[in-house]
Amino acid sequence: MGANDVLARLNSSGFLKTQGFIGGKWVDAYDGKTLEVTNPATGEVIANVACMGTKEANDAIASAHKAFQSWSKFTAGERSKCLRKWYDLIMANKEQLGELITLEQGKPLKEAIGEVTLGASYLEFYAEEAKRIYGDIIPTTSADRRLFILKQPVGVVGAITPWNFPFAMITRKVGPALAAGCTMVIKPSELTPLAALAAAELANRAGIPPGVVNVVMGIAPEIGDALLASPQVRKITFTGSTAVGKKLMAGAASTVKKVTLELGGNAPCIVFDDADIEVAVKGTLGAKFRNTGQTCICANRILVQEGIYDKFARALSDAISNIKVGNGFSEGVVQGPLINEAAVQKVETLVQDAVSKGAEVLLGGKRHGLGFTFYEPTVISNVNNEMRISREEVFGPVAPLLRFKTEEEAISIANDTDAGLAAYLFGASVQRTWRVAEALEYGIVGINEGLVSSEVTPHGGVKQSGLGREGSKYGIEDYLEIKYVCLGNMLG
Ligand code: NAP
Repeated sequence: MGANDVLARLNSSGFLKTQGFIGGKWVDAYDGKTLEVTNPATGEVIANVACMGTKEANDAIASAHKAFQSWSKFTAGERSKCLRKWYDLIMANKEQLGELITLEQGKPLKEAIGEVTLGASYLEFYAEEAKRIYGDIIPTTSADRRLFILKQPVGVVGAITPWNFPFAMITRKVGPALAAGCTMVIKPSELTPLAALAAAELANRAGIPPGVVNVVMGIAPEIGDALLASPQVRKITFTGSTAVGKKLMAGAASTVKKVTLELGGNAPCIVFDDADIEVAVKGTLGAKFRNTGQTCICANRILVQEGIYDKFARALSDAISNIKVGNGFSEGVVQGPLINEAAVQKVETLVQDAVSKGAEVLLGGKRHGLGFTFYEPTVISNVNNEMRISREEVFGPVAPLLRFKTEEEAISIANDTDAGLAAYLFGASVQRTWRVAEALEYGIVGINEGLVSSEVTPHGGVKQSGLGREGSKYGIEDYLEIKYVCLGNMLG
């Protein structure tokens, strides 16, 4: 299947949108500027999309604010039906949406369709949760009073999302927001705006009223600043790097907005001597190589106990040498390109730094023969926790192996980072895996499992990996305000 055929098909079915979506209308940038979206597998330009800034962001905020007045008064059942219809339309078109993701982001088509299914599941889940936003009645402190708790939507929400999951990172926010009665201004990454725009098109087809979902993309700092400055925007929800998350958190202070931050990780993956090698290799592969190693919960440091180290290193290298690299549309490909040249250069720098300090390349370790932004699936050994590769997110297909002796040492290395998003551990002892899971300073722990994401479980980190949780029954709380109502003079 050629990229041009895919583009033509997406265009004729109305999924290839290039304008922003404000107040239920497709609009160009007001000054007519556009930006190129490229296919990371080939470098070819796929589309020229509107390059928007302050003015368009302010209009989107105004539309969301107007729509909030009515959307927040829809019954929970009415909001639920809209979300469910949106979910149904997405699932009915999941192959085409998957193709769009492969085109702009590069991940293999099967994985891209998996992202659409995961992304849609947040809409389905929160369509159901919309009907379960309960308040409370507090036992009164005096006979002439009644004490009530109402849960109300926070208002207009600004959502800023990254390129690595261009679809699911949006629905994970918009699902609970709309279920709670909030309206949204979404700013997808300039690298991958097309999936967000297609999602907006389907929201429109699903009958979600104009202004409830708005999408603007382009000059990130301008759009971000407009969202931060507006007193009408009551919450910022951000998924992306810790550096940008810190800026947004500081900026949100001027109008005291709520913030949810899903930031970078530095996941340890601990393999104990008693681990089942097959389970540990399979789990590590899933946790490390999904999305070409470009996920926030990717195993970034693989800590292996000394008794199993050599055996595990061989088994992992064997498994990784079978990974087929290529264009995400080609049959059997499980690893696509990296997102851009800067990403490849970062991986190269971190691998070179590790090697210069004593690490050994067991497999790969360089750009792939396919060129562009393809990088070989890589295993490096003798890594320690002081090397840059252990301190920063690799965000590429590189598995760094660190050796440890004792459980205490593993915990100490694992926690020796500012990040605290996901951690993995493999071992047979129930007592030890529980002990270690409790000691790990992370928001998510996978025990004998490398794939842990779902709509029913809370996703989020501790320390500098962020604030708040997305997904699950907890994910809707961040979109709700608690209002305490005291009814007095009950005795007349
Ligand atoms: P990024 O550079 O922080 O960008 C994320 C989003 O922020 C993009 O939409 C970007 O826009 C926007 N942005 C950049 N500067 C901004 C500013 N000054 N004001 C407002 N918005 C601004 O992160 P990324 O490279 O796209 O994504 C990778 C990072 O996301 C990794 O650190 C990864 O771990 C993290 N991540 C975390 C989670 C999680 O759940 N914790 C999930 C996925 C990814 P443009 O792209 O248009 O410049």
